[in-house]
Amino acid sequence: MVYPSPYAAGMSSLGFQQIYRRIHLNPQRVAERAFLPDDIEAHRGVPLFTYESLRPVGDFPVLALSVAFELELAGVVQVLELSGLDPLAERRSARDPFVLAGGPLTFSNPLPLAPFVDAILMGEADETAEQALDIVFGTSSKEEAKRELAKLPSCFVPEIHGTELPASAKCADALLPAYAAIRTPHTELRDMFLLEAERGCHRQCQYCVMRRSTNGGMRIVPKETILGLIPEDAPRVGLVGAAVSDHPKIAEIVEALADQGRGVGLSSLRPDRLNDRFVAALKRAGYRTLTTASDGSSQRLRDAMQRKARERHLEKAAQLARAHGMKRMKLYMMVGLPDERDEDIDELVQFGTELSKIVPLSLGIAPFVAKRNTPLDGADFAGIKVVEGRLKRLRRGLKGRVDLRATSARWAWVEYVLAQGGPAEGRALLDAVRAGGSFRDYERAFRALPDDRPRRRLAVVA
Ligand code: SF4
Repeated sequence: MVYPSPYAAGMSSLGFQQIYRRIHLNPQRVAERAFLPDDIEAHRGVPLFTYESLRPVGDFPVLALSVAFELELAGVVQVLELSGLDPLAERRSARDPFVLAGGPLTFSNPLPLAPFVDAILMGEADETAEQALDIVFGTSSKEEAKRELAKLPSCFVPEIHGTELPASAKCADALLPAYAAIRTPHTELRDMFLLEAERGCHRQCQYCVMRRSTNGGMRIVPKETILGLIPEDAPRVGLVGAAVSDHPKIAEIVEALADQGRGVGLSSLRPDRLNDRFVAALKRAGYRTLTTASDGSSQRLRDAMQRKARERHLEKAAQLARAHGMKRMKLYMMVGLPDERDEDIDELVQFGTELSKIVPLSLGIAPFVAKRNTPLDGADFAGIKVVEGRLKRLRRGLKGRVDLRATSARWAWVEYVLAQGGPAEGRALLDAVRAGGSFRDYERAFRALPDDRPRRRLAVVA
């Protein structure tokens, strides 16, 4: 199992951990892990090897990749090359490992990944990973395996399906929750036992791949099941899910864990779910920063995106953070949303200033990238200059009052081209990675694409 980002990211992925654990439920099988090296230059000339046995990845019969989002596709190319394999599936021989992929990217658009793999498991792979491995090990050739895999309802075999994606798999409720096989001190979620408190989301934010329409909404894991799975010696517990704070018993669960003297981390906190009891429990479980999201810079945009966070919820969150002695509140936000104007940014400046009078405030800002399989699919990227201009306006307005961190507008554009692209964009990414992987390399590679889509996108960059 190869993760196309470094160890710390891979081992924080509950999906990756869940498949690793489930493979070992079959006594006939063993999976070993490998990750994109932290320092690729230092790794040159050394084949990628597994953590368990130091065996070269290229020697394994199956290489399973988990891809979280578009910018990890560069890592896919790199791990394949470091394994001594040609990144393009069509150039690999029948003796090379069978390359099977899955992961969160498959919920939106895995087409740019298609040139690099033999098959892709769409959606939840808790069940289908096992079925796919049975097929790969039960057939006598790669070609036969591909033919059989293409018969599974949620397995995409690019060579057979072209660009027609099958529906995503939804695993049986009985297989929930996902939980980690390994705890490690070497990730940002240090020594945390990762466990799924719920899967999916019942809300309908217009930009989100995990909205209600994806795999039937939210599936809740009972409190007793959650508490019963936690190993006695786990000092910290990470409760994972697209909308964990919407779990009806979330405050009770955090309270119970705090009573046991454990630290708790939640992968998502919705501001409208915060109340005195819940925030008190979070504080007892080690929270020092209350992190939540409002996503749109103004109420007008939040309404347009059907994002339920309102100003009064965010104000209350700030007051609760202060009342319970949190050091700060962190708010995730997007800029560059469709129809966003300077007035929306000015509203955020004003509101951010108000919030920062209640509790020290940080904003974590990401440029909006339209994803497939959402109502905002196909929306244009705002443009690098536009996004940078909005960030500048925000920085100027909030200077000295609010800490502001933003991800790169340029790389958001690269993510956008891939999110909206197909196999051709994947091949262009290969050229960009081989040319050195800088932003200019991507820009050149996308500009060289024959159809007019990338040119239209480049017009917004210029
Ligand atoms: S953004 Fe969050 S709350 Fe909205 S649909 Fe997605 S997971 Fe649910």
